[in-house]
Amino acid sequence: MRPNSLHAADLAHMVHQQTDLGAHGEDGAVLIKRGDGCRVFDTEGREYIEAMAGLWCASLGFSEKRLAEAAYRQLLELPYYHTFFQKGHEPSVRLAEKLAAIAPPGKEGGGLNHVLFQCSGSEANDAAIKLIWYYNNVIGRPAKKKLIGRMRGYHGNTVATASLSGQPHMQADFDLPLGDRFLQVSNPNYYRFGQDGETEEAFSARMAAELEALIEREGGETIAAFFAEPVQGGGGAITPPRGYFEAIQPILKRHDILFVADEVICGFGRTGNLWGCETYGIQPDMLTAAKQLTAAYQPLSALLISDPIHAALLEGSRRNGSFGHGFTYGGHPVACAVALETLAIYEERDLLGHVRAVAPAFLDGLGALRGHPLVGDVRGVGLIAGVELVADKASKAPFPAAAKVGLLVQDKCQEAGLIVRAIGDRIAFTPPLIITAAEIGEMCRRFQAGLDAAWAALQARQAL
Ligand code: PMP
Repeated sequence: MRPNSLHAADLAHMVHQQTDLGAHGEDGAVLIKRGDGCRVFDTEGREYIEAMAGLWCASLGFSEKRLAEAAYRQLLELPYYHTFFQKGHEPSVRLAEKLAAIAPPGKEGGGLNHVLFQCSGSEANDAAIKLIWYYNNVIGRPAKKKLIGRMRGYHGNTVATASLSGQPHMQADFDLPLGDRFLQVSNPNYYRFGQDGETEEAFSARMAAELEALIEREGGETIAAFFAEPVQGGGGAITPPRGYFEAIQPILKRHDILFVADEVICGFGRTGNLWGCETYGIQPDMLTAAKQLTAAYQPLSALLISDPIHAALLEGSRRNGSFGHGFTYGGHPVACAVALETLAIYEERDLLGHVRAVAPAFLDGLGALRGHPLVGDVRGVGLIAGVELVADKASKAPFPAAAKVGLLVQDKCQEAGLIVRAIGDRIAFTPPLIITAAEIGEMCRRFQAGLDAAWAALQARQAL
């Protein structure tokens, strides 16, 4: 343990989230004290390039004063108000108006014109689930309630969104998934699950056929919605194979199944377009956004819905006397003011143009490590990438899970001054969108140092 009273208090009182609590008990945590651009510094003064932008979210880095000032101005004017009982406030109205204006086209080119605010990505997806069930009740289809997610998909941590997510460790011992409304299709990781000689397009067609077989087995009249991240983040930064969303969408349409695009990671430029939906030609009925909506300086999420779904909310509200859903802090004025400032900065600084300009250096820089003995695959788009570690490059054989090679690489990168995220043996990268070409070069050098140190440690293990 680190000889520091803050670390001792942390061990004594903090329950860390999504953490190996045993390892934490032995090693303690890295406690981050301050940030500067794409870099953060811990309580012991060590500097790190934050190649995950925290949790895929700090798009403007860790020292954007304009966002602090926007929060302060709003705190002075109106520090809190809600949107219940026919009340509201200007920041949430302006933000809803802005999001509706920049939303990607929905199904059949319809708009996603209506916005419901919450505080987190989990709550946005949880609200989507509730609204989908509500919608089908109101329009007279009470049997159409099942939801389809994907293996390794990640949609949040509430009981419903963890049930929808394809993350076994988030379900085991939590008595999840809840009930029998949660279905799952395969993970579309072409590198890992594509068969010998199968093209990417053929793999996509196989994934689509599996989806259709599931729908037919369960009965389309029982299935309400399909949830997907345009690029799977928490599953390991998995870009969809060519033709995947093109193959899937007509099937959903045929069975009148809603498409919910979880843009919590991809939204606001991560993939090189404003929305992952644009990058992959997705026309959703609902869209969830969070994280880069406020550059993570305030907790805020948004659920965007189409006109027909909104019409059902009006009808249900008429029937029930009220639309019975809401959160105390949903659409908090300080968070909305910070979001408006964030979106203004994106436009003023042409952050999309910047992402497109530096993405080749990012993807090529990581791609250059394909020759490393630990690296099986490097994939990515825009400023999101995943590096898959393998025991044998030719056969793609993975390491045994117990060897924890992903964590070893993550630790060695940390020693080299680089924060990355190991998801099993997939290493994810989502740096702040403001990262420069020079910082990308440094990021790649530190990653190579981390990989080399991990490789040396593995060789030493074998020699024992
Ligand atoms: N959806 C996706 C795609 C996510 O990556 C996450 C969080 N990483 C969530 C939803 C949940 O967001 P939150 O942690 O803000 O609840």
